[in-house]
Amino acid sequence: MKNQETRGFQSEVKQLLHLMIHSLYSNKEIFLRELISNASDAADKLRFRALSMPELYAGDAVLRVRVSVDKEKRTLTLSDNGIGMSYDEVIDNLGTIAKSGTKNFLASLGSDQAKDSQLIGQFGVGFYSAFIVADKVTVRTRAAGEPTDAGVFWESAGEGDYTIATIPKEDRGTEITLHLREGEDEYLDNWKIRSVIKKYSDHIELPVEIENKTKVEPAVETKKDENVDADNESVVDAEASDDTAQDPPVPNETEETVTWEPINKAKALWLRSKSEIKDEEHKEFYKHISHDFNDPLVWSHNRVEGKQDYTSLLYIPKQAPWDLWNREHKHGLKLYVQRVFIMDEAEQFLPNYLRFTRGLVDSNDLPLNVSRELLQDTKITQNLRSALTKRVLKMLTDLAEKDSEKYQQFWQQFGLVLKEGPAEDHANKESMTKLLRFASTHNDSSEQTISLEDYKGRMTAEQDKIYFITADSYTAANSSPHLELFRKKGVEVLLLSDRIDEWMMSHLTEFEGKAFQSVSQVDDSLKKLADEETPEQQAAEKALAPCIERVKTLLGDRVKDVRLTHRLTGTPAIVTTDSNEMGTQMAKLFTAAGQKAPEVKYILELNPEHELVKRVAKTEDESQFAEWVELFFEQALLTERGTLDNPSQFMNRMNKLLLSA
Ligand code: ADP
Repeated sequence: MKNQETRGFQSEVKQLLHLMIHSLYSNKEIFLRELISNASDAADKLRFRALSMPELYAGDAVLRVRVSVDKEKRTLTLSDNGIGMSYDEVIDNLGTIAKSGTKNFLASLGSDQAKDSQLIGQFGVGFYSAFIVADKVTVRTRAAGEPTDAGVFWESAGEGDYTIATIPKEDRGTEITLHLREGEDEYLDNWKIRSVIKKYSDHIELPVEIENKTKVEPAVETKKDENVDADNESVVDAEASDDTAQDPPVPNETEETVTWEPINKAKALWLRSKSEIKDEEHKEFYKHISHDFNDPLVWSHNRVEGKQDYTSLLYIPKQAPWDLWNREHKHGLKLYVQRVFIMDEAEQFLPNYLRFTRGLVDSNDLPLNVSRELLQDTKITQNLRSALTKRVLKMLTDLAEKDSEKYQQFWQQFGLVLKEGPAEDHANKESMTKLLRFASTHNDSSEQTISLEDYKGRMTAEQDKIYFITADSYTAANSSPHLELFRKKGVEVLLLSDRIDEWMMSHLTEFEGKAFQSVSQVDDSLKKLADEETPEQQAAEKALAPCIERVKTLLGDRVKDVRLTHRLTGTPAIVTTDSNEMGTQMAKLFTAAGQKAPEVKYILELNPEHELVKRVAKTEDESQFAEWVELFFEQALLTERGTLDNPSQFMNRMNKLLLSA
């Protein structure tokens, strides 16, 4: 060993190891899946590199991973002939965690064991999972293409630090030895190892082989049974040995021959015929490629020949990954070309709003030497992207039709991401719009379960638009005075309160011929909904006309207009905007994004049937009148925007009026 040194783990690694050992204990056998998964990735990487540098194989092109045990030493060893690691790579890969956002993620753990194990599973524990069953792990590795004296030794007890050194290593690739913890002897049992590997690794392409030791009795021993096999050749050989006939020999050490027995199917799952693949295998394959511990929710496997020639295997996770909202994290499919792994996280094949999709595409049309840059602008990529986008949407549409409960599960996890769709993808707007789910006045709960098809089916005869309201929270939307008329008329309104909703709605114009209409915007279709004006209402309007003029003069250009409305029942005043003007929520989005939004010009609408309005209309004292009008205006703004520019002014006015009452 040369250049031996001891190094400390990055603090995140220490934290992860600690949490993992405790929270994944009931799931410990997954370490085999993780290590074999890594070996399979290492084989994929070598195959890819060898496309341009075949000499990397160095005469050993049959890739595999081998598993063996040593019962005396109580070790389990996995040895692959994949890409291997250099000294620096070992330090980077087995001493740190490169994922951005790790610190925050880890900080969120530690209170609830069951929850933690779920989250850690989503985070992906990989190599470090070896420490669930081992109290010491030794790695010997050599990167493909490096000389035999450039091997690397790494060893750690999984606590604060590890030892690293340069060693000679004959074969390329990585050998990982687990020194099993007390009580983990079941992983010394061939039968146990086989069954775990079969379960977890049947679907990966890399052959997994297990060591079979056959004891070969030393030839001399057969002498005792000479009569059985008198003219056996070995007997002749034995006689040539130095043992004598009358003195039975002390038995020689039993000789062992070692053979390697393949224990998985070792055929890439997506290349097998669809009908032959069991659900269980899909679930395991998904875990292999996604590093997720959960089963997938649904999947879709397709082979396409003809103008395009590709196979795709797409999975929708059950749970959002921990870094779904991390902008630095690339989300994409695994790309294979003619069965050779090319790259991970190829984000070119799906739009952003479907970034929760995991899986792979194996293309026969792309060149093997394709790079990320090249992928960006080939026609083949564009065609694949369009086809795969449709596949994912179809998979979700089918799920929504066949299993609404599961679809709801999907929506809860990924609805917010899908809502980016209308702005991003015009071509598929129609199918995507059907996938959206909303809260609505038709429902008592804040859960988003209503589809536009549901809504359309319930539209009333006089109704020709789809009404919605956007607000900061479900409660604010659901209690908005804008809904008073709709409630009275039994017309359903969609209640939108996610931050992205206003943005999404600005990209949705219609659904199956029905236009979307915000209820906080002035709109002619409302006239149709409202009752014919009664003679009393007409009289009230006439009587209040001078009052409206007074209000207009008072508020001046702070409002766009002042009107009377018959849409309200329990509220004296509201503000609305013109259909062609920016609405409240959109203005908020601009502000939140740090941009200056044009000032929203509101129309103040007064309810002539409200007692307060009637009373104020009769107030002759101009300054008292002004106090009331300001109060109506402030109240209306408060319900509309949830905030006021000057809340204390509003409170003072209110208190003054209360005192004078
Ligand atoms: P992940 O596989 O999610 O990246 P791991 O902790 O399992 O995380 O592994 C970290 C890195 O170590 C891998 O990305 C890979 O570069 C390297 N590595 C792990 N196992 C092997 C192996 N058997 N051969 C070569 N490199 C490996």
